[in-house]
Amino acid sequence: MSFRVGQGYDIHRLVEGRRLVLGGLEIDSPWGLEGHSDADVLLHALGDALLGAAGLGDLGELFPPDDERFRDADSADLVAEILERVTGEGFAVVNCDLTLVGERPRLAPHRTSIRERIASILGIPPERVGLKATTNEGLGALGRSEGVAALAVVLLETAS
Ligand code: MG
Repeated sequence: MSFRVGQGYDIHRLVEGRRLVLGGLEIDSPWGLEGHSDADVLLHALGDALLGAAGLGDLGELFPPDDERFRDADSADLVAEILERVTGEGFAVVNCDLTLVGERPRLAPHRTSIRERIASILGIPPERVGLKATTNEGLGALGRSEGVAALAVVLLETAS
């Protein structure tokens, strides 16, 4: 048994009039995240962490932001495709840990449902999905609520 660890980071602008999708879950909110796909900042960080752990490149390489096929793409589908490649290389996901950084939206009311959604996308129990949130203490662009960032760490195991 051997292990591989990967990390991911993403950031998207917070704007009015876009739908807000976090961790594969649509959340009722007056603001959403701007992006070519559904701009799911949590799943993008997670996708990069999975790719990084397996040594398979990065999200932008696999799903170029200027490719029309990925306009308004459901990021849960993108992570599912990444997972297929990762498992195809003989890896299984042990756990993941995610942090959302920003002043809003508040994550707490949605934490349980987002954990369950991410767990179902990855095919692991919700106890293996860590999900935390922190503000940026009013500092910089995140502190001014101009965007939301996410950090992700993933551990993979392989039988060989
Ligand atoms: Mg992104």
